[in-house]
Amino acid sequence: MTKKIAVLPGDGIGPEIIAEAVKVLESLRAGGLDIEMNEAPVGGAGYEASGKPLPDDTLALAKESDAILLGAVGGHQWESLDISVRPEKGLLGLRAELELFSNLRPAILYKQLADASTLKPEVVAGLDIMIVRELTGGIYFGQPRGVRTLDNGEKQGFNTLVYAESEIERIGHSAFKIAMKRGKKLCSVDKANVLECTELWREVMIRVSKDYPEVELSHMYVDNAAMQLVRAPKQFDVMVTTNMFGDILSDCAAMLTGSIGMLPSASLDANGKGMYEPIHGSAPDIAGQNVANPLATILSVAMMLRYSLNETELANRIESAVEKVLDQGLRTADILSDSTSDGMQKVSTSEMGDAVVAALT
Ligand code: NAD
Repeated sequence: MTKKIAVLPGDGIGPEIIAEAVKVLESLRAGGLDIEMNEAPVGGAGYEASGKPLPDDTLALAKESDAILLGAVGGHQWESLDISVRPEKGLLGLRAELELFSNLRPAILYKQLADASTLKPEVVAGLDIMIVRELTGGIYFGQPRGVRTLDNGEKQGFNTLVYAESEIERIGHSAFKIAMKRGKKLCSVDKANVLECTELWREVMIRVSKDYPEVELSHMYVDNAAMQLVRAPKQFDVMVTTNMFGDILSDCAAMLTGSIGMLPSASLDANGKGMYEPIHGSAPDIAGQNVANPLATILSVAMMLRYSLNETELANRIESAVEKVLDQGLRTADILSDSTSDGMQKVSTSEMGDAVVAALT
């Protein structure tokens, strides 16, 4: 059956990098992949088109599709808008409406880019971690929240960290399943020594682990996890954690690789439907110049094929094609460091996309 992909370019460099990812998908379609792609505006582009960062038609398209490919949203021109219609609301709306509770953020250091990391090559060479972050619960959504005025006139800000057992169970299953497809090692990150909510998190993770006897489960406090990520990151295979801890740790892990333009992400629902996007933003500083790195978006297509379309072999082929273009010495400006520029060829966004397509075929 034809699989439907909603293509949402968004703002800034979004349309440029999505165009390259679409080239890759078109090339796979020419080779027999049965897909249909439909494009719609989101973020600032959605606001300009309909007054809403998540237009009704875009949401309807996302709901009826098997997977969503998103570029990035945001830009200075929308920063003064009311918070309810800012571009980021488009993204949050999609996550909430589609119940995309499981956020997968790999941190992979390609051997060809070992110099891009600020850490010593022996600490990061061959790094391949998957961070699974709970995305629709926890302190970012907990009620009550706000800023109140106390009896003495002083203001007090407050947020609530809250997780129901069912929310922990479903992210637990998601992480264990991913660990089963990888190195079968899962580290659950919490702060169970201080926060009751994450004491429950640990208890539920242990319970869920009984369904996955092959996976080795360990636990780590978040402060230690942050330290270990920069001290000896290769000890990790898959990490699972709460919304806020995952927000912070996944950015830290991403930066171990030193190249924001290389990292994809996936946000999945309980049935494997997902939204796929690069981890970086809309990069207004380089938008429209054909210099952005499209590889994070192309690698997001690989994740989409693996996790939502059940096309593991095609996913592997895209990842190999990316390795191949790096081996050929092709580099967009962001991954061309002064120390490694010898023998490298600086390429534009579209040249990089063309090279991946050529390497695929
Ligand atoms: P950013 O990720 O857009 O850019 C940070 C830096 O990285 C910039 O110097 C940029 O040029 C560079 N960069 C990012 N992606 C690149 C790529 N593919 N190739 C080469 N260089 C790249 O973060 P920011 O500057 O803090 O935010 C810009 C806008 O993006 C803001 O409006 C922000 O709200 C939005 N944003 C959106 C998302 C998203 O859509 N998921 C995520 C983060 C930020």
